[in-house]
Amino acid sequence: MPFHTPTTQPDVLIVGAGPAGLAAAIASANKGLHVEVIDAMQPPIDKACGEGLMPDAMRSLAGLGFNLNRDLRKVESHLLRGIRFHNEQAATSAEATFPASPGRGIRRIALHQLLLDRALALGVRFHWENSVQGIEPTTTGHLLRTNRQTLRARYLIGADGHHSRIATWAGLAKATIYSRRIGLRQHYSIAPWTNFVEVYWSNHGQAYVTPTSANEICVAFVSNKKFPTVNHALAHFPALQRQLASATPSGAPRGSITLDRSLHRITSNTIALIGDASGSVDAITGSGLGLCFRQAVALANSLNTEDLALYQRAHRTIQRPARIMSHGLLLLDSFPHLRTLTLSSFQRHPILLEYLLHLHIGHRHCPFGVLTNALQPDYTC
Ligand SMILES: Cc1cc2nc3c(=O)[nH]c(=O)nc-3n(C[C@H](O)[C@H](O)[C@H](O)COP(=O)(O)OP(=O)(O)OC[C@H]3O[C@@H](n4cnc5c(N)ncnc54)[C@H](O)[C@@H]3O)c2cc1C
Repeated sequence: MPFHTPTTQPDVLIVGAGPAGLAAAIASANKGLHVEVIDAMQPPIDKACGEGLMPDAMRSLAGLGFNLNRDLRKVESHLLRGIRFHNEQAATSAEATFPASPGRGIRRIALHQLLLDRALALGVRFHWENSVQGIEPTTTGHLLRTNRQTLRARYLIGADGHHSRIATWAGLAKATIYSRRIGLRQHYSIAPWTNFVEVYWSNHGQAYVTPTSANEICVAFVSNKKFPTVNHALAHFPALQRQLASATPSGAPRGSITLDRSLHRITSNTIALIGDASGSVDAITGSGLGLCFRQAVALANSLNTEDLALYQRAHRTIQRPARIMSHGLLLLDSFPHLRTLTLSSFQRHPILLEYLLHLHIGHRHCPFGVLTNALQPDYTC
């Protein structure tokens, strides 16, 4: 069947309706741009994720126009007060609280629905179950062919994840990969025993626990090797295994790779990449979603001024602190002695972990303020 060529053309066509694509749609629509989004799947779209939103991600959500008090009341979520590290037996533990405002644990599908509802309210048009098959340049933008139709757009945004086809077609896929690990997520029905994100360290990676509601937690395992089952993964974290002895797994486990990967370029003429398609940091940082939201605001600003070079520069600044943290945490993963030393230093001097946490979430008022300001982008969106 021949594809008909559409007569109307949105300003922005986004490929991928994950958190990055939806945030980009919202930020662009906030600027008054006409936005359309396609995704190969149907909503709500689930994905393996630790489901923790750090305080900086919460601030960026507010920057996208969410009223956090009102909008988050519509979905189940759980306040997060800080981060706690444990070694595998929990014999060494250290914790730090978020300085100003809390984070949130929220089920991935609940976050998806929240973002989708906002995009729909702003007039964004969606094409579900449309998988991109090819793109061609036109005199006024791009022609994009899916399995169902042909769409036109002035700007094309690749928000299609780690294996972005848009990146490949636009010649933007050249990247440096610093690490490749495997993530596995499982929810458990149990009342959270803490308001902290708990990270359990072992020689087989990390398991981190995020409370997502009054009676559910999300556990994400991240490791260099693929665990055959969740129980195999849990066996490497005996302290966590004991905590979960009375908990029931809820829903099916879900796996995904996590990359620490930097793309050489993320824009080309009228094409730009966002989210995991534009490079990523290891899942253990808990930064992926916050990065998507900040990139979305930066992208919309440069679409609005028709200057994607602005976005290219902003993207590098946004990604830098999370990448530094990712490399630091991966060093602890690779060198057990360094990890033992670091965890016991954090236990003896909790202020060290506090400084690092404040730096990580872009809190400006800490004693390492000069360093913080040099590394952190301005989060006011
Ligand atoms: C185990 C694990 C734990 C994590 N924990 C956290 C955490 O606690 N906090 C945090 O902030 N981040 C976390 N992250 C990172 C976070 O999940 C990602 O950064 C985030 O999902 C990236 O979103 P995205 O929209 O860029 O990509 P995706 O969520 O992968 O979305 C891409 C979308 O593109 C669509 N698509 C792909 N190809 C096509 C095509 N050809 N045509 C049409 N559509 C297409 C897909 O269907 C999908 O909907 C974690 C990641 C992992 C793996």
